[in-house]
Amino acid sequence: MIHLSLFKQLKKHVAVFSAFACASGLLTGCGSVTPQTSSDLVMDTVFTVTVYGNGAEPSELLEIGKELDSNVLSRFSEGSLVSDYNNGITSDEVAALVGRCDEINEASSGAFDVRLGALADLWDIDGAAKGEAEFVLPTEREIETALENKNTIDLGAAGKGIYLDEVKAALDEKSVSGAVISAGGSILVYGAKPDGTPFKVGIKDPFGEDASGTFGIIQISGGYFISTSGSYERYIDLDGVRYHHILDPRTGYPAWSQDTGVCPVSVTIIANDGFTSDALSTACFVLGPDKGLELAEQYGAEVIYIMNDGTVITSDGIITANDNRLTFSLK
Ligand code: AMP
Ligand code: MG
Repeated sequence: MIHLSLFKQLKKHVAVFSAFACASGLLTGCGSVTPQTSSDLVMDTVFTVTVYGNGAEPSELLEIGKELDSNVLSRFSEGSLVSDYNNGITSDEVAALVGRCDEINEASSGAFDVRLGALADLWDIDGAAKGEAEFVLPTEREIETALENKNTIDLGAAGKGIYLDEVKAALDEKSVSGAVISAGGSILVYGAKPDGTPFKVGIKDPFGEDASGTFGIIQISGGYFISTSGSYERYIDLDGVRYHHILDPRTGYPAWSQDTGVCPVSVTIIANDGFTSDALSTACFVLGPDKGLELAEQYGAEVIYIMNDGTVITSDGIITANDNRLTFSLK
């Protein structure tokens, strides 16, 4: 059951990615150098690695993700450092990661909190969205109890960015001229494309069915990390309310689910490192544009908000153009 749905997800993702690669002129069929591309299920989602030339094998870069997840980051992998940490066995590695997350917790006035594994388990949006568990609305009492229990670290909001930082370090050691590493909602564009044109990274359409369409394109040179967090990724709709996987630690509810006004449905961060892009996409989603723009600025990151009424709000460093399609680039 799990494998079937993940396999379908893999096939869909590869199809979408290929369309992009071709549109950007990366494939032989489009008249340019053949990149090596490989996809796999890593961290419970689809990762796709594209490398230009022979400097690195995509499979070895995917392997870094699998090992990082099972040995360090996954709280569900027995014997991983995070799982040990949650069982009272501390390590310098996890303490350092939690320390970085706690800094963002402070900077976001509590909108980002990796100590809320118990709250994530209570909602179990992942299980319900995959059809593995029945969705039961938690009671106020259960939410309060889960919010008081801050003993379970869940690095789901930053893990893909942490992986991208590892991959960047690995690529720096090799003679890779260019690469695109897509880890679920987080992407590293590295080096340059053989034809010298900018990388094109799609922002998923949060309003499209299955979020399979593209809302806009980011045109960008190598060296950036781009992460998107959205309420369309994993969710359950019940009685007109969308319960999704990004939780507001201040209320215990999925962010904005108790709100009937204009609110974010997708937040994209462009940053100089993977951890920051991934953690901030989650934090800025919870904060909303007013405070989220300030937080991004504090970290030298750019941000693109898509709101539920279709409006787009960007930070000052973003140029928005709308010729045939919505395109974003850095100033
Ligand atoms: P992302 O897709 O990067 O926004 O991360 C979402 C994941 O991070 C969720 O599936 C939870 O595991 C975890 N999470 C949800 N809300 C928060 C939050 N406010 N702070 C930190 N982690 C969170
Ligand atoms: Mg994130």
